[in-house]
Amino acid sequence: MSSDLRELYQTVILDHYKKPRNFGVLEGANCEAEGRNPLCGDHVKVYARVDGDTVEAVGFEGSGCAISTASASLMTQIAKGKSKAEIAAIFKRFHDLVTIGAGADPGDLAALGKLEVLAGVREFPARVKCATLVWHALLAALERRGEPVSTE
Ligand code: ZN
Repeated sequence: MSSDLRELYQTVILDHYKKPRNFGVLEGANCEAEGRNPLCGDHVKVYARVDGDTVEAVGFEGSGCAISTASASLMTQIAKGKSKAEIAAIFKRFHDLVTIGAGADPGDLAALGKLEVLAGVREFPARVKCATLVWHALLAALERRGEPVSTE
């Protein structure tokens, strides 16, 4: 990764950390789930408003590190208007990106959009949990399990 690209990624992550999008209790939310990452201290609550199979909006609150907060903020933007199956597919690609690298399919990165900025966590295994915590929580919320999610 070039240092210019790395710098751009850092800028996007910091922007979402300092000004998280869709932060706060989501109005009209009909599913929610909590997520905790005890290793880092991240603690988030994810809200979603679902109509049929479409996720109309996603919000979150809580406190976390720059990586978990930026991941949550980006997630709320990407998940909006998607079906549960689409969100699960995006999370699978994202999980691959931060663990083994982008998949062989060039469409994988395109589908991830701005989530690509978090690719660097692959070099820091402990940070992978920070990046994926909110996604586990969102999927749990969509399943309406209501059970808190923990990375441990
Ligand atoms: Zn963290």
